[in-house]
Amino acid sequence: MSGFVFSEKPIEIVSGDGVYLTDTNGNDYLDFGASYACTPVGHCHPEVVDAATSQLEELIYVQASYPHAARTALYEQLAETGPVDIDHVWLCNSGTEANEAALKFARSATGREKIIATTQGFHGRTMGALATTWKRKYKKDFEPLAGGVEFVPYGDAEAMREAIDEETAAVILEPLQGEGGINPVPTEYLQTVRVATATNGAAMILDEIQTGLGRTGSMWAAETHNVVPDILTTAKGLGSGLPIGATLCRGWIAESAGDHGSTFSGGPVVSAAAGATLDVIEREGLATNAAKVGAYLREEAERRLGDDIREVRGSGLMIGIEVKRGSNRLLRDLALTHGILALPAGRTVLRLLPPLTVTHEHADEVLDAIEEVIG
Ligand SMILES: *Cc1c(COP(=O)(O)O)cnc(C)c1O
Repeated sequence: MSGFVFSEKPIEIVSGDGVYLTDTNGNDYLDFGASYACTPVGHCHPEVVDAATSQLEELIYVQASYPHAARTALYEQLAETGPVDIDHVWLCNSGTEANEAALKFARSATGREKIIATTQGFHGRTMGALATTWKRKYKKDFEPLAGGVEFVPYGDAEAMREAIDEETAAVILEPLQGEGGINPVPTEYLQTVRVATATNGAAMILDEIQTGLGRTGSMWAAETHNVVPDILTTAKGLGSGLPIGATLCRGWIAESAGDHGSTFSGGPVVSAAAGATLDVIEREGLATNAAKVGAYLREEAERRLGDDIREVRGSGLMIGIEVKRGSNRLLRDLALTHGILALPAGRTVLRLLPPLTVTHEHADEVLDAIEEVIG
């Protein structure tokens, strides 16, 4: 019996420890995909396991209208780690829901309808978040989606300036596109979006679901670019693999956010896991490690793979290697003959999103394998 939405791989994983996964036959895999950036602190980090299991034993669930210490602590931790002024936190269960809330809050706070999104952007798969996602393939069977969404070319500052007006509720974008192919943009571009949204009274929503939590070399990519959005969304690695997302908002958004809710918002177990995850990221300096090992990996990839690839892109440990032929065969060979798991991003990009705990030695091992498989 298998599920019907995901196509399944010929590897069955039974356990995880740090940067490694183990399958039913006892084979170990160096996990450079981290199941789409879901394990920033590594698989089954003891602190996260402890936090979640002791919470499980004490109280699995109480609804968010009853204050709970784990949830309250997480609100504070997120407000503290978030960019300055973004200190209102809404908790939910996934990235899609974090963005769905962001779009709803922006509409409610501005009283406006128009949402601007970017080409190649990915923001999730519910009818609202999906409407702001670019790829036809994800949308065509489900239309009509939420209305009022306009797309502008990602990275085009002029197009953005022209599109944003006094009818705009929000602009939603990633500071470095993930699903779209690991596409970076310059700081000036994000600052243009910041200024144009502020000037027109629109909300800037920065989707940091893939870039956040230390991945690109600082806690949030917003810090690297010196941009403070009105709303910042996070999920993926926040609960080290347990389902939790968050929508971080400035006061003017939170104060007129409208009527929104979710039964599981900030349940004690996921909140405890997320709190421990944030603690470990900070204490172990994982953003700094991501910057260091990521820079080494990108430089070495360029030097060693040279003419065999088209380009290396990215920031920190969010890296795309654009290859000359399709990436599928390459990913299969890496997994089955070298025990290395990585991800695609579109058809021709090999995407690396390892736990932020990886070392230079792990990077070398992956480069050796890629060199061999491509060569
Ligand atoms: C994965 C992702 C989402 C959707 O998150 P889910 O948890 O799968 O709903 C949204 N935005 C970005 C940038 C993502 O990478």
